[in-house]
This record gives sequence, C-alpha cells and structure tokens, in this order.
Amino acid sequence: MIEIKTHIHYSAKILEKWLFPYVCIICNLRSDTNRDLCSFCKNELPWILNPCEQCGTQLTGVSLQKCGSCLKSPLPFDQTIALFHYENPIVSLITKLKFHNNLVYARVLGQLLLERIIKHYLEQRLPDCIIPIPLHSHRLKERGYNQSLELARPISKKLGVSIEYKSCQRVIATQPQTSLTAEQRKKNIHNAFQIATEFNTNHVAVIDDVITTSSTMTEFCNTLKKHNIAKIDVWCIAKTSH
Ligand SMILES: [Zn+2]
Ligand SMILES: [Zn+2]
Repeated sequence: MIEIKTHIHYSAKILEKWLFPYVCIICNLRSDTNRDLCSFCKNELPWILNPCEQCGTQLTGVSLQKCGSCLKSPLPFDQTIALFHYENPIVSLITKLKFHNNLVYARVLGQLLLERIIKHYLEQRLPDCIIPIPLHSHRLKERGYNQSLELARPISKKLGVSIEYKSCQRVIATQPQTSLTAEQRKKNIHNAFQIATEFNTNHVAVIDDVITTSSTMTEFCNTLKKHNIAKIDVWCIAKTSH
C-alpha cells in the first residue's frame, strides 16, 4: 500500500513538473507561465507607471511628459525605458543578477524589458545597435560577466538588433557612486569611458541594469555624442527616483 502511495506521489510530481516546468524566481512555486516568473509575482512588481519620457522617473502630474529636472537641464540621451522602481524585490533580483552568476535573472529581467521595448517601438524606429554599459576590466574579471550584456542578449536576438560591445571601454575604475554628492559623482566618473571605433550609425540604445544616479549614464552618453551619435535611447530594468 505504501509502495503504491509513494508511486502515485512521484507520478504526480513528474506530471506537475511536465505541465509546469518553470519555477518562479520570486515565490519559488511552480510558475503558471512558460517562464521563471509567475503571473501573480509579475503583477506585484513595483512597475513605474507614467514615466518621464526622457529620464524614466515616475511623474507626479498626469498631463506632463517630462519631469522638472529634465525640463531644467536636458540630458544627453533622448528617451528612457525604465521598468521598475529600485525597491524590493527588484533590488534583490538585480543583486542576484550581478553577483550570483545565475543567468536565469538576466533571462527573466531581459524578457520583461523586451516586452516593454516591443510595445514602445510599435510606432518608431528601433535603434541600429545596442550598447551594454561597459564594466571596468577589473570588475569584469572579478564578476566573470557583464550583467548588462547578459540582459541585452535576448533582446538583441529577438529584435535582430546587433550588440556593440568590444569597442566601448571603461578605462577608469570608479568607486561606487551612491555614497558621493552630485558634484563628486561627476568628477568621479569624468573621462571614465573610451570608445575605440567610429560608429556607422547615429542612433543607438544603451542598456544598463539599474540607474541609481544619472551621472554614469550621462558621462557615457556624452562620450558617445563625441563620436557622432545623434540619438540615444536608454533601456534599463530599474531606476531610483530623483
Ligand atoms: Zn511567483
Ligand atoms: Zn525626467
């Protein structure tokens, strides 16, 4: 009798695994979708609604298109797609993406970004290439991979837009930006990037996992602009508010 019960139990487990092969990376239960994120957890994520079209920060007034900060001092990029407020569980997912060498996080977050990108570009031209924001070689060696490049891979594959990776480098290993004042951040990141090619396009997308202060993205985009890139779209998973 026990043997039959055990047999039924294992058969049910196998059937469940076959019907729902994915496990949600947030609740750890079998996912009801064909990926590693269940529909309940997806809905509960801290989505940015009504973003500033230039920097991606959530706007407070419904009729505005740009936030006060972008109106006052324009940024060197044209538009931003930022999915989430930088709060849990996104903070935890991005930490795992960066430090756990487990590419399931890049796959799930990259797929969510891809869905938004497809909707966003229904009526406008896609960029000609995707540039993952470069890591300094020391950081890359330590981590073993660039998380922004891993996010870019499924997007590039699905959209048929190439990734431009090797020609952009971070030549100065900067200290973490978050503990610095705005002025120190600018100084810290100044001339941190080098670009070893002339692009044969003038419209690119820069991809980053999270934008905590805009100073790194601003410096990188300013460097791109010196290489005749006229239009820059920014794609990121999460963004802190101003
Ligand atoms: Zn879940
Ligand atoms: Zn803005």
